[in-house]
Amino acid sequence: RAKDGSKNQFCFFTPQMGAESIKQMQLETELRKTIGTDRYELYYQPKVDTATRQICGVEALLRWKDADGNIQPPYEIIPILEHSGMIIEVGEHQIQSACQQLKEWQQKESPLNFALNISARQLLNSNLVETVRQAIAENGCDPQRLELEITESVIMADVTTALDKLQQLENLGVKIAIDDFGTGYSSLAYLSRFPIHILKVDREFVKDLPWNKDNITITRSIVELAHNLGMSVVAEGVETMAQEQFLANLGVEEFQGFHFGRPVPVAEFDRLYLNAPYPLHLTEKTF
Ligand code: C2E
Ligand code: MG
Ligand code: MG
Ligand code: MG
Repeated sequence: RAKDGSKNQFCFFTPQMGAESIKQMQLETELRKTIGTDRYELYYQPKVDTATRQICGVEALLRWKDADGNIQPPYEIIPILEHSGMIIEVGEHQIQSACQQLKEWQQKESPLNFALNISARQLLNSNLVETVRQAIAENGCDPQRLELEITESVIMADVTTALDKLQQLENLGVKIAIDDFGTGYSSLAYLSRFPIHILKVDREFVKDLPWNKDNITITRSIVELAHNLGMSVVAEGVETMAQEQFLANLGVEEFQGFHFGRPVPVAEFDRLYLNAPYPLHLTEKTF
């Protein structure tokens, strides 16, 4: 029987299937086989404190190595992981490593925060709260340093469940961020009702700052809205000095983007940012 739903654990090839779907199934099989191995890797992208220009945390971004050793980006694999439900198990491993990493950083004089992306399936249909609670307890890490990023669509998919889960997560002390804010179809009403601590302005709006009048208006409004609701703001996709300066003037709390650093493997992250006298002051050479 061909795969017809997300619950099926096994896939079979049928003569009707095109080459493309066979390829997808082989990929799915391999993704499943390699869960828990180092074929899955989290790359770290630095997040920078606007006021001090010091690195204050990372966003962890998933990469997967195929059999030939090629690194596959999230858009190739996340939809498959999400659709098949494998994202739940992959996510459990990620939460473990996030808490281990936090613990390790806490032993330094200036610990970093760790942001992790959480998909709909993970928040709404898994035991995420318990997974997070256990990982924090086992590793003895500070929950305040763990940021879980969800998109507006995750909340809108099931407002009641999302509210319940987010409240439980907030009770654990972790921070909730809305990712890609402004691009989804969401109701502003939930923003004040939900335990949300951080808004991440989508790259789409940051892209042509400080010249595009509409994006200036949108970004300024998002920052004002967030601050009036007691949330802090992260600007994603910051690529230029002009963007940095403009966003700093708007009062954005944190930057993330190629201007400060690309997502890199952990060893590379340590080499680039942590082996310098800790914590690193960004210098021109890191840009
Ligand atoms: P996101 O959470 O919005 O992550 C930011 C994306 O923007 C990353 O792409 C990052 O590499 C890219 N980016 C950062 N700075 C810049 C910049 O200055 N310019 C440009 N052009 N791009 C920039 P990436 O790593 O390909 O991830 C894409 C999306 O996949 C993420 O968007 C997130 O929604 C999802 N994702 C990544 N890792 C995970 C994961 O472990 N779990 C889940 N559930 N989703 C993930
Ligand atoms: Mg994100
Ligand atoms: Mg984002
Ligand atoms: Mg984005």
